[in-house]
Formats: sequence, structure tokens, C-alpha cells
Amino acid sequence: EKIQPKKDTYVIASDSTFAPFEFQNADGKYEGIDVDLVERIAELQDFNIEFKFIGFSSAVQAVESGQADAMIAGMTITDEREKSFDFSTPYFNSGIQIAVKKGNDKIHSYEDLKDKKVGAKIGTESADFLEANKDKYGFSIKYLDTTDALYSALEIGEIDAMMDDYPVIGYGVAQKQPLATPIPREEGGKYAFAVKKGKNPELVQMFNEGLAELKRTGEYDEIIGKYVKDGS
Ligand code: GLN
Repeated sequence: EKIQPKKDTYVIASDSTFAPFEFQNADGKYEGIDVDLVERIAELQDFNIEFKFIGFSSAVQAVESGQADAMIAGMTITDEREKSFDFSTPYFNSGIQIAVKKGNDKIHSYEDLKDKKVGAKIGTESADFLEANKDKYGFSIKYLDTTDALYSALEIGEIDAMMDDYPVIGYGVAQKQPLATPIPREEGGKYAFAVKKGKNPELVQMFNEGLAELKRTGEYDEIIGKYVKDGS
């Protein structure tokens, strides 16, 4: 039995840039793992979607305020977020990591971040990790609004290091961005599709059904393989 959609169109909020999960290609069109997954799942499960690529913390607020029905944005399931969101089955294993500018040979551990300025995107798991560890290691934090702003701040030396999800840093490295990752990852984050707690349960069910089907048919692996080449 197919699950019936309850809305003509579901508004899905997402990040503005978080390659390889969502980013604008050379034609200015959004693509990426999150985009392909939701578009295929909507086709398979027969529901309509409208994406809004508004940025991570704006997407969180849009779902919380009911301006969007759901979000997919490389969003990690956390205990805190589970208080206000219902999550789908996880669709990607991730984690966070410090990156420095390529050629910086002074940073090898969190201790080496003492008196340094470390950047993170506002509202993210990386921002929370830095906040929880800044006193222990003696660094200060600079919050940036977007991933693009975060990576440029590092490039121009406005910050000494940054923290972001490692598949996103890995994609940057594969795209020849001047980045290095001298400190081991914090593993264990899992990405999921999210709705406001108690809202749009049928949408989460359709996402889960569609994801299971994409995994069964091998299409899930094809979508990942299109964007992640070397398992990084
Ligand atoms: N996975 C991280 C989080 O959930 C970052 C997500 C993002 O920047 N789009 O906070």
C-alpha cells in the first residue's frame, strides 16, 4: 500500500552551499546528494516538492516555524535536535573535523589551537563542538553564516582553522581547495531528513520507504558515487 501525501506540494528547506550534499552547478542549478535523493524519492513515492536553499540555520528556523515542511541539509541527528524534530532513517554516516590552510605545519592537535581563531558555520554541530571545547584548549571562535564564507575566511587568513563535516572538507580537497586536515575526525554523526516534531509524519514515512527502495535497487550507491569518488 502506497502512503498518501497530505499536501499538494511539500516545501523542503536546505542549506545554501554544502557540497557535495547541495550546491549550485556551473549552470546555477542546485544538485548534490541531498537534492538527488529527495527528488528521486518524491518520484518513487508520488509526492511533489519545492526546494528552498536558504542556508542551514534558516532551514532549521523555517521548519520550526512551519514555513517549510521538512529539511534535508546534511543535518546530523543530535539529542538536542530530537527535542524539536522527528528524523527519518539515517541516510549518510558523517562526522566533523578541523581543517587548516594547506601548508600550515603548526597545527597537529587541539592543543595547538591555543590562542588561535577557529571558525564554524552558525548553528551547526561543529559550532557546538567548538563552543564545548574552547575553554579546554584556549581558542576563540568566529561564526560564519555560510560554508562559502567559512572556507574563504580560512583562505584569507581571517581564521587559523575551521571545523566542518569531513565529507564536505574531503570534497573541497578533491576539488583542489588548499586545505589540510592534521587532526583526526570526530566520528559518529548521522545525517537524516527532518520534520518538525509531530508534523508531516506521512512525509517521513514516504522518505523512509523511498530511501529503502533506492538502497534495494542500488540507486542509492549510484547517487553517492556520482559525488564521492574515493570514499573520503
Ligand atoms: N552536519 C552538520 C550539522 O548538522 C552541518 C550541517 C550543515 O552545515 N549543512 O550541524
